[in-house]
This record gives sequence, C-alpha cells and structure tokens, in this order.
Amino acid sequence: MTSPLNHHDSHPPARTHKITLIPGDGIGPEVTDATVAMLETAGRAHGCSFEWHRQDAGADAFKKTGEYIPKALYDSLETNRVGLKGPVTTPIGGGFASINVTLRKKFELFANFRPIRNLAGLHSRYPGVDLIIVRENTEDLYAGLEVMVQPGVAMGMKVITEKASTRVAKFAFEYAAKHNRKRIHSIHKANIMKLTDGLFLDSARKVAAGFPQVEYLEHIIDNTCMQLVLNPYQYDIILTENLYGDILSDLCSAFVGGLGMVPGANLGENCAVFEAVHGSAPDIAGKDMANPTALLRSAILMLEHLDEFATAETVQSALDKVYTEGTVLTRDVGGKSGTKAFTDAVIAAM
Ligand code: ATP
Repeated sequence: MTSPLNHHDSHPPARTHKITLIPGDGIGPEVTDATVAMLETAGRAHGCSFEWHRQDAGADAFKKTGEYIPKALYDSLETNRVGLKGPVTTPIGGGFASINVTLRKKFELFANFRPIRNLAGLHSRYPGVDLIIVRENTEDLYAGLEVMVQPGVAMGMKVITEKASTRVAKFAFEYAAKHNRKRIHSIHKANIMKLTDGLFLDSARKVAAGFPQVEYLEHIIDNTCMQLVLNPYQYDIILTENLYGDILSDLCSAFVGGLGMVPGANLGENCAVFEAVHGSAPDIAGKDMANPTALLRSAILMLEHLDEFATAETVQSALDKVYTEGTVLTRDVGGKSGTKAFTDAVIAAM
C-alpha cells in the first residue's frame, strides 16, 4: 500500500493527477474551494496539476439523482483511486446512513490516519504535540447493525473481526517502523468488552510481536482521556477501534487548535480518500468563517501519497508562514479573518 509519507523526489517535468473531489455540504464547499485554489497555485510552481472530478454526495446528491451516493461517484473513485473529500452531513437519529462510513466500507479504506501536530506559530497550551491516531475504519459500532428489539428497547451490535483488527494493527506497526516512531498504544475497554475489545487487543499483540523495535503498550479508553489531558507527550501512535478513535480525535484536536486544524487520510489497499477530521459545522456554514486548514493539511497528505513532495512542501511552508505571522487567521484560532482572506494569504505566501 502507498502510505501518505512515501518519499521519492524525482519527477518527469509535468504531471496531471485525476482526483475525485467531493465538496460535501455545510462548510464542505467553502473549505474545498479554498483548498483547490491553494493546491493549484502550489502545484503550478512544480509542474503538478490536477483534474478535479467533482461529485455530489448526501442530501444534495439525493435531490439531483435520487441516490445519496450516486453511481458516478463510485465510478469516479474506482477509476481515480484518490479522493479529496469535504464533510457530508449525517442526520442524527433517522434518515440515511453515514456517507462517510459507507464510502470507507465500500472501498475498504480500513486505516484512518490522523496526525495531530501543532503548526509553527499557533499558540497552544500544549506546544510540540506530535502524535498520530490510527483508527480502524470499517467496523465496531459503526457496522450500523441496530434493531428495535421491542418498543422502548433498542440494541446495537459491536462487530470486531480478527481480519480488520490485524490489518489496521499491521498498518500502524509498518508505519511506525518505516518512520521511526517509537511507541504504539492500543486503546481499548477490554476489561468490560472482553470478547470484542479482547479480540482487538489479541490481534494487535500478535502483530506487535513482529516489531520488537516498536514499544507496545495498552491503555483503557477512560484512563486515556485523562492521560491525554495531563500529558499527551507520552503518546506517539494511538491504535484504536472506530468509535474510540472518533472521540479521541476530537479530544486531541484541542491540543493543536481545534477541529479546524486536524487532517485525515482514509487508506486502503487500492484507494485513498483524504478528508478533515471535522464535520460539516452547520453553525458556521456559508458565513465565510470556516478554517480550511484541516482540509488543506489533508491535501498535503494527499500530495505526499501522490509523491508530489515539492508541492506539499510549498503548501506547508506557506501555512507555517501565515500562522507564524498570525495577522490573517480565522476566528476558531483567535483571528478575525474569513475563509477567503485566509486562503488569499496562504496563496500570497507561496
Ligand atoms: P461529525 O460528527 O459530523 O464529525 P462534529 O460533531 O465533530 O461533526 P463539527 O461539524 O465538526 O462537529 O463541528 C464541531 C464544532 O467545531 C462546531 O462548533 C464547528 O463550528 C467547529 N468547527 C468544525 N470544523 C471547523 C472548521 N473547519 N473551522 C472552524 N470551526 C470548525
């Protein structure tokens, strides 16, 4: 599998990448447009260009096509094998199933890779955090197996398999070995969920045995929340199941400036979809208030996946410059600027 940080530096002079672009809804279209503009400028300097294949998903797609995930989107991802995705709203309670979860399952994007790092220049009560969450992406309580057993009694199934647990653990350990990360913690609640979380741990331990150079530890999820707030520096790579990974990602985003800052990659054997950790943030949608940094940092992971390291570097340096200067930042990180002004500042910094 191509991981987001494979390094190769030599390129033929001009390259065009076909990318399935899913703007999503809420703040999705705003942060996606901003990210596309920034990538195009950065790529131009390095002979790297993009063919964006725009695809609707969710409620908007349903209005147009009668499908929440239109066939055209599946076909596009099947062909391009690389996607850049904005958030798509999942209705709470009734309504359609999560588009995000459906795509992750359909394309077997089994590893959700979420690096949590402070950007140079942005003040944080936790400076210098550098940890990675590797979240299993295809099962657990996200299997969507829920039934009303009788009126007033609902039941949900937590599904954990050896296959999915082993492949995500392998991903985490291979990543650690390749990138010289020192330690992996499996996060669980196996004292209560003895069979499901027990199987997850058992699978991780077997994989860990093949990587003696990487220290392997286990923490219980509730203790982990406290440990993270007390001392996030003790964690290097967090390996965990789907639901714990979701919750820990939002918690950890607070170390580095909040949800507007944290990128993500959904990785499988044959396909990769890059998307921010945050949701569609309906409270600020359409108000020019969204911070596009999280999606832009997801796009940096995408550029690395595409072996476009020079373009990735240009984007990263421009981001660092804008955050270090600190004069054109969005409100979520203490600034006064809008999405558009921030985007222009990053482009100007290239
Ligand atoms: P989901 O369950 O769909 O992942 P969520 O519950 O994590 O979503 P979000 O939609 O991500 O919720 O929003 C949580 C809060 O963070 C909101 O107040 C929102 O305004 C803020 N937020 C999220 N993303 C951004 C962003 N890119 N820029 C600024 N604020 C953001």
